Amino acid sequence: MKSRKVVSLICIVSFTIATFAQNTQPIYPVKRVENPDMWRTDGWNAVDMAKKTKIRKKAKNVILFIGDGMGISTLTAARIFEGQMRGESGEENRLSFEEFPFSALSKTYQVNQQTADSAPTMSSIITGIKTDEGIISVDQNVRFADYTSVAGNETKTLLEYAEDAGKSTGVVSTARLTHATPAACFSHTAGRDWESDADILKGSKTAYDAKFPDIARQLLEFKYGNGLEVALGGGRSKFLPKESADPEYPTRNGERLDKRDLPREWQTKYKNSSYVWNKEQFDRVDVKKTDHLLGLFEPSHMKYEHDRLKNTSEEPSLAEMATKSVDLLSRNKKGYVLMVEAGRIDHAHHDGNAYRALRDTVALSDAVRAVVKKVNLDETLIIVTADHSHTLFIQGYPARGNNILGLTRGVGELGELDKEDSTDINQKPYTTLGYANGPGARKNERPSLKNEQVIDPDYKQESNIPFSAETHGGEDVAIFAIGPNAHLIRGSMEQNWIFYVMADALRLGRK
Ligand SMILES: [Zn+2]
Repeated sequence: MKSRKVVSLICIVSFTIATFAQNTQPIYPVKRVENPDMWRTDGWNAVDMAKKTKIRKKAKNVILFIGDGMGISTLTAARIFEGQMRGESGEENRLSFEEFPFSALSKTYQVNQQTADSAPTMSSIITGIKTDEGIISVDQNVRFADYTSVAGNETKTLLEYAEDAGKSTGVVSTARLTHATPAACFSHTAGRDWESDADILKGSKTAYDAKFPDIARQLLEFKYGNGLEVALGGGRSKFLPKESADPEYPTRNGERLDKRDLPREWQTKYKNSSYVWNKEQFDRVDVKKTDHLLGLFEPSHMKYEHDRLKNTSEEPSLAEMATKSVDLLSRNKKGYVLMVEAGRIDHAHHDGNAYRALRDTVALSDAVRAVVKKVNLDETLIIVTADHSHTLFIQGYPARGNNILGLTRGVGELGELDKEDSTDINQKPYTTLGYANGPGARKNERPSLKNEQVIDPDYKQESNIPFSAETHGGEDVAIFAIGPNAHLIRGSMEQNWIFYVMADALRLGRK
């Protein structure tokens, strides 16, 4: 009953939105004219645009954007959030990549996981082979934490194929460069946590004693072509020896036990190379004179976008890192493969903090927009997807333009905004966003929430089942594509098929 009533009311909402806008309640103006004619014209325009879509099949370059943990509810909430940041209603907004002509659903299960983690999901996107939990760019014959099973079971990554073909390659992430998503591009390992040799010692003494290469070392020892041209992100402590103080936080040290200073090795290994660890050095890099660029901007993950914006002189944004990478990589006449990850959408979700997850999703949208402006889409395939989802949900019957972070407030029978917030059976208000599980769960009664409290960037949304960290979600995620072979992103796809669409566009990887 309730939902039927709401459906019929939606029509009224669009007529009365102008009246709503004058209301002082938490409702936002719709800046375009919305009436039945607009919906009709808008729909025909969309069809006409779709009919004009060009189909191209061969790419010189591939740029893969990953929103780590960016499920479909995250996309919906982030587009509303972005529109509302501009003072709009929000629902009609589109994230940059939502304008791409092709999209599909991606099935994210892996060989032994119904709901998967980033290690096998990114391995399947970047190597074309689904695999098991916790292992990186190796197949299902590898046993977790057994280094002896790695040799011979490595699965070749798109970046490795590209390097073999003389192309340039790059990896960008706001997480540690040794974290699962970027690591899957250049390393092969039986433990996603084996980021430094100190981590290996914690996980497997036998692997440590055998000097099995940790993920940071594998970045330096990349065997294909002339090595990665670009690696930008966090994770400095994984690259520095424990004898060395961190350059930004002198009271902290690196964590490597083998005394190797990998940033220094990067500079000696590659001619015309540079290593930067702050924004000022990053800005000074001349991409025309630099062939190999390593940037490590934090000992661990880089900052959330919300926190980075408090002092933009410390770290580059995802958009700045992505565009600089494109400038450097596109000097190669044979083309390039670049992976760009918004790595911390996932972390904010795990923390039960929707605000930071949405803000980082908008930062990804900004990065995609900036890159699209730079590249030639006749020869560059761009794919935007997620490795897996999270349990974020969008609930209740909020009115059009209701603050996506706020308490839910609906529309009344006459289409006017309700005077009171919507409530549960105990007359307590609730937020539109919540999580199925996570740190926001209360043991006893639900609290009496206030709007100022729930729209605070630090607020942790309520959740149903108490967990110290919220979990991933198992439903499909979206894939968006533009450029050559983008038309092959369609329907319901196995996640690993993304690899074959990219490899086919570059004419790589087919035996
Ligand atoms: Zn996660």
